[in-house]
Amino acid sequence: MNEPATRLNLLDLPAHEWREATSAAGLEPYRGDQLATWVFRQGVFDFGAMTNLPVVMRERLSELFVVEPPTIGQRFVSADHSRRYLLQVADEEFVEAVYMPNDSRATLCISSQVGCRFACTFCQTGRLKLQRSLSSGEIVGQVLRLLADAETAPTRTNVVFMGQGEPLDNVAAVIAAVRSFQDERGPAWSWRRITVSTVGLVPEIRELAALGAQRPRLAISLNATTDAVRSELMPINRKYPIEELLGALRDIEWRRREKVTFEYVLLHGVNDSPEDARRLGRLVRGLPAKVNLIPWNPIATMDYRRPSPEAIERFRREALETGIDVLVRYSRGADIGAACGQLQATNSAG
Ligand code: SAH
Repeated sequence: MNEPATRLNLLDLPAHEWREATSAAGLEPYRGDQLATWVFRQGVFDFGAMTNLPVVMRERLSELFVVEPPTIGQRFVSADHSRRYLLQVADEEFVEAVYMPNDSRATLCISSQVGCRFACTFCQTGRLKLQRSLSSGEIVGQVLRLLADAETAPTRTNVVFMGQGEPLDNVAAVIAAVRSFQDERGPAWSWRRITVSTVGLVPEIRELAALGAQRPRLAISLNATTDAVRSELMPINRKYPIEELLGALRDIEWRRREKVTFEYVLLHGVNDSPEDARRLGRLVRGLPAKVNLIPWNPIATMDYRRPSPEAIERFRREALETGIDVLVRYSRGADIGAACGQLQATNSAG
């Protein structure tokens, strides 16, 4: 065992830099593209199996580089066929990612950090505290690992940054990962298939907006309609109150048929009154917006309650009457601890 500890994990480089990496190793630049095709399109991570590369080249590559997505610690399969993965990243840390098949398609919910430092009071992940941010390779690697583990390759893949962590608190790595997903040498997914969800970090929202045509879709966890309630649920609101957040969104040049998603977790007696529904309408009108109402997923040891089905329906109707686009979204995978807000890297099922 004399493995050099310094071998570069190629996943930490955006796909467009693989050419430079292989050139620096003395190989023709197009070899970097071939490598990217194997990794991103075929899900092959072992140089030895890359049969269109000469054997000596494969040996040279494995001296210098590794392609190591996080490894599967555990896999939980829900009655609704979604799967929650505990993935091991460097330094013995675990993160979670969720695979949600839908006919031949799939949505992958991935993490950007181990834990989270924003401490939203209704969210399990918020109780973990931030352990560390993930590298772009660890972010990209979650997607590669889940796709490699799928029985059949989905005909269309959507990626949502809605797992553990706050993507915009790790914005450089998230942008690098998004670029790899979009790269023509990589999976070549369009911006429409990638969604970054945020508690509302205004400067980083502007940074994302500056990506222009490459910008991924944006989702905002709104969760309340007054600053008083939002600050109680989401401490970050004290720094970036609702108006400032909406102001940053109004400044964005939205693309054709693009909508910003507002997520609104429904909590009984906290944010589910008819006045809330009407204020919600007023807040988001004027933006190309759609609102997802997420009935709160219960977390043991928390005192919140999910509103009754009747109350949820009443809220939806009130909000709809203000003229906005609004849907109720029941989370998948609640039986395996995979639903929104439940992620906490446990190895128990629920
Ligand atoms: N930090 C980012 C990414 C996480 S997305 C963000 O907050 O947007 C996770 C989503 O689940 C957020 O919209 C959050 O408001 C929601 N959520 C958290 N706890 C929940 C719970 N117990 N039930 C339902 N949704 C929850």
